[in-house]
Amino acid sequence: MFGMDCHTHTSVSYDATATAGGLCRRAISLGLEALAITEHVELNRWYSQGYYGAVARNKYEKFNNCEVMEKAMKQNTSVKDSYGNRLHIISGVELGQPNADFGLADSIIQDNRLDYVIASLHELHGKEDFYSLDYKKESADNLIKRYFEELLLICEWGKFDVLGHMTYPLRYIQGEAGINIDLSVYEEQINACMKALVDSNCGLEVNTSGLRQKYGQTFPTLEYLKLYRELGGEMVTIGSDAHCAEDVGAGMEKAISLVKEAGFSYLCYFLEREPVYVPIP
Ligand SMILES: [Zn+2]
Ligand SMILES: [Zn+2]
Repeated sequence: MFGMDCHTHTSVSYDATATAGGLCRRAISLGLEALAITEHVELNRWYSQGYYGAVARNKYEKFNNCEVMEKAMKQNTSVKDSYGNRLHIISGVELGQPNADFGLADSIIQDNRLDYVIASLHELHGKEDFYSLDYKKESADNLIKRYFEELLLICEWGKFDVLGHMTYPLRYIQGEAGINIDLSVYEEQINACMKALVDSNCGLEVNTSGLRQKYGQTFPTLEYLKLYRELGGEMVTIGSDAHCAEDVGAGMEKAISLVKEAGFSYLCYFLEREPVYVPIP
């Protein structure tokens, strides 16, 4: 089957159950050309709890993400040795909140074991992950404005390969809390982010996790893939955001059809931090 999956997690990421070998075997059984393993490394919790003088605000907040990074790189190197002759294994990372410390982010991504860096924004400065917020108490409008403000800083920094699951807050605000959001209200902010993304020569991910969740759509939707292309963007990856082996490649056909509909004739994946373009059949 034509395809690839450029966003997956194992139990090295605190919230996933898959093993790296399990992800690889699933990808091989589907006949995928490439699989990226992209563990969560939350930059705002890179050091120990003591360093920040902070406490975990929920069970997902783990400190010492520097240790996750090291485990991830060792794991990825090891599965490349075991399965790398059957498909391209991409040693990636999902770098959360790089805007917490761009200098630190710069140094982390120098790691030459990395093929691929996804930049993500799961939580706003001083707030918990969008997953944990109480939308009866929060202003959705204010949160989304702040999301695009912080996302703009990340896009302007631009030292990553692709922007992960753009419009992530909608997974919870619209999907879970059922608050309908009209994104056209944020058009200026979204345009600025996309322009910065293109100017930084970064790619855009089509994340299919929303198709398996209440939100029911990809992050982002077709409209924003089209916008990225109109502004001159050329690098699009697709990723399931699988947290278990069964979800590898999930929603891939839908994602490919959206990418085509947006006018792209190539998908890409990354090896040694360089894009590899693959024509869509
Ligand atoms: Zn994420
Ligand atoms: Zn992820």
